[in-house]
Amino acid sequence: MTEPTIYELSSPGRVGVRYPQPDVPLAELPQDLVRKDLPLPELSELNVIRHFMHLSHLNYSIDSGFYPLGSCTMKYNPKINEEMARLPGFAYTHPLQPIETVQGNLALMYELQEYLKEITGFDAVTLQPAAGAQGEFTGVMIIRAYHKSRGDTKRTKILVPDSAHGTNPATSAMSGYEVVHIPSDSRGNVDIEALRTTCDDTVAGLMLTNPNTLGLFEEQVVEVNRIVHEAGGLVYGDGANLNALLGIARPADLGFDIMHINLHKTFSTPHGGGGPGSGPVAVKGAFKEFLPGPIVEVLEEGDEELPPVFGFYQPTQSIGRVKAFHGHFGMMVRAYTYISVHGADGLRKVSEYAVLNANYLLARMRGTYKVPYDRICKHEFVVEGVWDDAPGVHALDVAKRLMDYNFHPPTNYFPLIVREALMIEPTETETKQTLDRFADVMLKIAEEAHQQPELLREAPHSTPIGRLDEVKAAKELVLCCWLPEQVKN
Ligand SMILES: *Cc1c(COP(=O)(O)O)cnc(C)c1O
Repeated sequence: MTEPTIYELSSPGRVGVRYPQPDVPLAELPQDLVRKDLPLPELSELNVIRHFMHLSHLNYSIDSGFYPLGSCTMKYNPKINEEMARLPGFAYTHPLQPIETVQGNLALMYELQEYLKEITGFDAVTLQPAAGAQGEFTGVMIIRAYHKSRGDTKRTKILVPDSAHGTNPATSAMSGYEVVHIPSDSRGNVDIEALRTTCDDTVAGLMLTNPNTLGLFEEQVVEVNRIVHEAGGLVYGDGANLNALLGIARPADLGFDIMHINLHKTFSTPHGGGGPGSGPVAVKGAFKEFLPGPIVEVLEEGDEELPPVFGFYQPTQSIGRVKAFHGHFGMMVRAYTYISVHGADGLRKVSEYAVLNANYLLARMRGTYKVPYDRICKHEFVVEGVWDDAPGVHALDVAKRLMDYNFHPPTNYFPLIVREALMIEPTETETKQTLDRFADVMLKIAEEAHQQPELLREAPHSTPIGRLDEVKAAKELVLCCWLPEQVKN
């Protein structure tokens, strides 16, 4: 028997909430604003709690299981981050409050900027962008503003490797540039010769991800960046994969000029359905004046008795705001907490274990799954989800079958340069037992692909809804599984 929906549980006159006596004078609502035909269910508090609890159990989350979604860094979100973000002094402040009443918040933002500078090697940071993609947009607009400020107007192209995340070409196009793809070589690096022949005085810059989306360290990154600089271009670093580099390599030292940092990946703030993102952008000194403002800075140094006084700085050639007020402050509190709790040594261990876990999984899967660019990987790796002797089984089927074993599928069909790609990122927060369980299941699915391929093709078998037509589901999104008759008609 299926459980009754909240509409079926509705009973006239049943009440779930009682309003307190008003402490303001009663007023009549304008009658034309009152809708009498809304078929809202009438329920008890318990009915409602059970309804939402049930819905929450239908969701997959990092708190409920392994989430190896490559490129997304679905690491555990420590609960201390949440406790700190809920402290009243952080949670109940308003961005329009006088700055002398929010000095603690500004101190946190300032120190987070300083942490991010130290981790990446850059000279200035804006915390304003709300996501990696918005950070990219900020960065490419800075590239544009920089060339314009020098009267260098013939640069119309941005170079993007063919392994790049889709946001990179999208950002370049949105910023008014022509996108030129650079191929990868047989080791999964940027093809240096192709880069050399493409670089000229019409190139505004290169967008480069390191480690790249194959999970591989760009072996000639310094040379790549030098070639672009020699042609007068700038290098934008897509910093989404910073989780592999903490305390080991600083992107500014590798020759990048500008980079975004996904606080919701590397620095453990919730993402996916879990919360707004945050994509601070860090730059070398030469680009500081182009950043979006305002930026928190120290107005008066402190001393032994008095703390420093914080205020705002407005960059002189700013590209303008990219987000209301100061960005997603609650995410800054969480990232700050994460960095403080780990410290420098702890952050380095994060990356060491992220890389170790990925290489361990790769070693267990190699041989059963084809690894197209087979090198020591960084924090993630890409295999093919297809076998020549198992025709009719695709990466999508492997991904769907994983759901039957209660694992979130890896990213599939990205990067585009790998046939039937499965992109796996275990992160540092998983134990060896979990990695082994996942590897065992991946090997079992490979066996099923050969012996009982229909098990994969018809998967998932265990979820409330089986295989969807994903295009139709996206185009005709139905979020309500049941509607009362009045609404349907
Ligand atoms: C996640 C990701 C982005 C985009 O970041 P969002 O915060 O999702 O906008 C860009 N590039 C790479 C490589 C990524 O993994």
